[in-house]
Parts: sequence; C-alpha cells; structure tokens
Amino acid sequence: MKIICIGRNYSDHIKELSNTKPTNPVVFLKPDSSIIAKNQNFIIPSFSSEIHHEVELVVKINKVGKHIDESFSNKYYNEIGLGIDFTARDIQNNLKEKGHPWEKSKAFDNSCLVGEFIVKDELENQSNIEFSLKKNNLIVQSGSSSQMLWKIDELISYVSQYFTLKIGDLIFTGTPAGVSKIISGDLLEGYINSNKMFSLKVK
Ligand code: ZN
Repeated sequence: MKIICIGRNYSDHIKELSNTKPTNPVVFLKPDSSIIAKNQNFIIPSFSSEIHHEVELVVKINKVGKHIDESFSNKYYNEIGLGIDFTARDIQNNLKEKGHPWEKSKAFDNSCLVGEFIVKDELENQSNIEFSLKKNNLIVQSGSSSQMLWKIDELISYVSQYFTLKIGDLIFTGTPAGVSKIISGDLLEGYINSNKMFSLKVK
C-alpha cells in the first residue's frame, strides 16, 4: 500500500508557515515503513531537533481506480480516520531552500500515525467533519473538512490522475494551523467530533 499526502490544503496553515497558496494540490508520498506499529510510542529521531505534529483527516481507499471522475470519488472510500503526518521541520526547511525532495523530512520511519477509522455514513455531516488534536490535554489543532481548499472528492480525483489507487491506500488530506514542536513526554490525542481516534506518547 501507499500513503499519499496533501500539503497546503488549509489557508490558516499556509499562512503560519509563510507558504504561498498553490494552484494545484501539493502531493507527496510516504512509504508503508513510515507507519507507527499499533500501540507503539513515537520516538524522536536523532537526526532532527524540530519534529512537528500535523493532524489530518485520512481517507482509506477501498476500490481500485485511476482517472476517477470527481462525481464518482465517493464510491472509492468507505472510511475516514485521523492520523498524524510527523514532519522534521528543520530538515524540510533545509530541503525546501535547496529545492530538493521532502522525503527525508516526511517519510522517515514512524513519521506516520494512523488512528482509528469511522464508516463515513455514520458521520452526520461529511462536508463538515470536525477534528482536533490535544497535546498534554490542551487543544493545539482543530479544523473541519469544510475548510479544505480541495475537498476529499476533489483530492481523490486529482491524485488518481497520477497514481492508480489501490485497496488499502491512504490519503492524508492536509493539516490546519497549530502545528508545533513535540518533545519527549508529550501525549498526543486525536478526535473526530467527540470520538477519540488515537492516543500516542512521545519518547
Ligand atoms: Zn501534512
């Protein structure tokens, strides 16, 4: 399986990193080796001194497809979850400056937390899915699918022009504002509406 990630999909996060609003979705990949095993902690890697959390809605693909028309996108997923796209911001800034690919900062081992999933039809309003991240019991990030620059169905259509989507593939749909550095001892807890989707300790 593959993990397709969308960057710069919320205006408030684009502003906080002083990025410019893209004309098309920013897309990058994480390998399956980046997923944190169930019930494991996040261990800060030695190569970075600035790991940021990015909480994101995650779409699980359940049907093979390519060149998917936006009007059919909703037939390609049944579950929506929550995860964290961990980012070595110091390394990413360095790579960005040089115009190099982002993988060392985004795709390293354990850079991808995949929490629980909810069947999409159980969500009251799929165009306004509210989610949040608590760090040590304080809400640090919150957003809604309604704030996405490109909505889930548009993203599925867009990425499927480049990558064949396969069963089990995940799409990380971008993060709202509030990204910040994590340190050893932090506790990260994610919510969709009032449902707890994950709990993760930082070591
Ligand atoms: Zn992200």
